[in-house]
Amino acid sequence: MIKGSCLCGKVSYTYKGVITEIAQCHCSQCRKAQGGAFATNSPVNTKQLTFSGTQFITEFKSNPIKVRAFCSHCGSPLYSARSDLPDITRLRMGTIETSFTCDNKYHIYTDSKASWHDIRDQYPKFKEGN
Ligand SMILES: [Zn+2]
Ligand SMILES: [Zn+2]
Repeated sequence: MIKGSCLCGKVSYTYKGVITEIAQCHCSQCRKAQGGAFATNSPVNTKQLTFSGTQFITEFKSNPIKVRAFCSHCGSPLYSARSDLPDITRLRMGTIETSFTCDNKYHIYTDSKASWHDIRDQYPKFKEGN
C-alpha cells in the first residue's frame, strides 16, 4: 500500500499495489511541468489508485490524448494519463509519502535533457521513450 499527497494536503491518494518501475523523464514537457531537470514517474494500475480531494485536481491537456494533473490549490504535479492507455496512470513520485525501494530505474528522453544537467548513474538510458 502506497500513500501520497500534494504539498498542501488537499489531494491525497492510496495505491493498492507496488511500485515496480521508476522512470526519470527528461523530456522538455516534463521539465516544464515539474520545474526541474526531470520528472520522476511511475506507471501504476489506474484501477488500484484512488484519490480524495478530487475537486482540487485540475487536468491540463498537454496534447490531444494526454492530461497532466496537478493540485489547483498548491500546484503539485500528481500524475499524467493518456486516453489511449486508460489502464495506466503515471504517478509523480515526489508526492509519495510511503517509504519503499525499487531498483528498476531508467532514464527516458535523454536526447531532450537540459544541457546543464548531467546523468551520473548506471541506470539504463533511452534517447526517447522505452
Ligand atoms: Zn495541494
Ligand atoms: Zn516526459
